[in-house]
Amino acid sequence: MNSKERVEAVLRGRMPDRVPVCLHNFLPAAKEAGIPLERYLSDSRAAADAHLHAVEKYGHDCILLDLDTTMLAEAMGAKRNCTPGAPGHVEAPAITGLEQVGRLKVVNPERDGRIPALLEAVHRLAERVGNEVSIRANADQCAFSLAGLLRGTEDFLVDLMSDPDEPALRDLLEVSYQSHLAVHKAVFKAGAHFTSMGDSPAGPDVVSPQLFAQFARPYEERLVNDLAADGIFTTIHICGKTDVILDQLAAYSFCGFELDYKTDAVRAKSTVGAGHVLFGNIDPSGVVARGTAAQVRAAAEKLIAVWKPGGRFILNAGCAIPESTPPENIAALVASAKEFGRYDG
Ligand SMILES: [Zn+2]
Repeated sequence: MNSKERVEAVLRGRMPDRVPVCLHNFLPAAKEAGIPLERYLSDSRAAADAHLHAVEKYGHDCILLDLDTTMLAEAMGAKRNCTPGAPGHVEAPAITGLEQVGRLKVVNPERDGRIPALLEAVHRLAERVGNEVSIRANADQCAFSLAGLLRGTEDFLVDLMSDPDEPALRDLLEVSYQSHLAVHKAVFKAGAHFTSMGDSPAGPDVVSPQLFAQFARPYEERLVNDLAADGIFTTIHICGKTDVILDQLAAYSFCGFELDYKTDAVRAKSTVGAGHVLFGNIDPSGVVARGTAAQVRAAAEKLIAVWKPGGRFILNAGCAIPESTPPENIAALVASAKEFGRYDG
């Protein structure tokens, strides 16, 4: 089984020969390839080269291609701060009031913002290593999170609290949903084997489980179903501690969940992990970046013992691996899957 086949088995609910490893490593990958982050974030060749360099060096099973969390909001009119050396963040929203929602248009992924760079990077990776290595393309933020970036997250939350039935809120979420869906379909067409998305502002660290159920979950579930209808597997990434929504997530159609290290691993396995694919969830900063290689190995061994049984598990850090991470720690994470993750003995 090569890396691509190993990941594919997991995504189809079948048993692989061992636990595959995916790396959320765009920050150290750019650094180790000698590529300034601002170039990685906007230049398809640079982004592809960074990941090719990393996969050659570490031999992980799955490349995660990610152009930060502002790509889609920027393509829809939000202003992005591009401080050199840092991932982008939204400096000004696309609209300053719900009465402006009609100005927002569904993106054209072939044309708008940096999305064409993402598609071209996917295409390059698929051409170079797509027969051997699994390629996961991040389609950026799901409807709730994207709506927050377009409207300004605090103002968006105030809108939700003050008049949850306001039709313009639904229009904002709908145009966000349609844009996001279009990017998933475009990266798949460009050669990604599966897709992923972030929806962290919808998680319990930011909003209540009730608000999540009302305004985020419907779009996440719809996305999983809409993509499955086109044969596309997707993974939902939510930062922070997600324990109180795990039961809700477990009700989704088959998909992946990438959970952060704060989420209880045992509880995750017995809820979402019973019928879905788990990704994660080693502590990216405290262990992967600041621990020793021995500590990374120990944390991976412990997690593998809990999440490996029955398959449906892809080892990764729980969130983005910091740029400062020592290469030997990344190597230790990959080696742990080979050492502790075998299913055939
Ligand atoms: Zn995260």
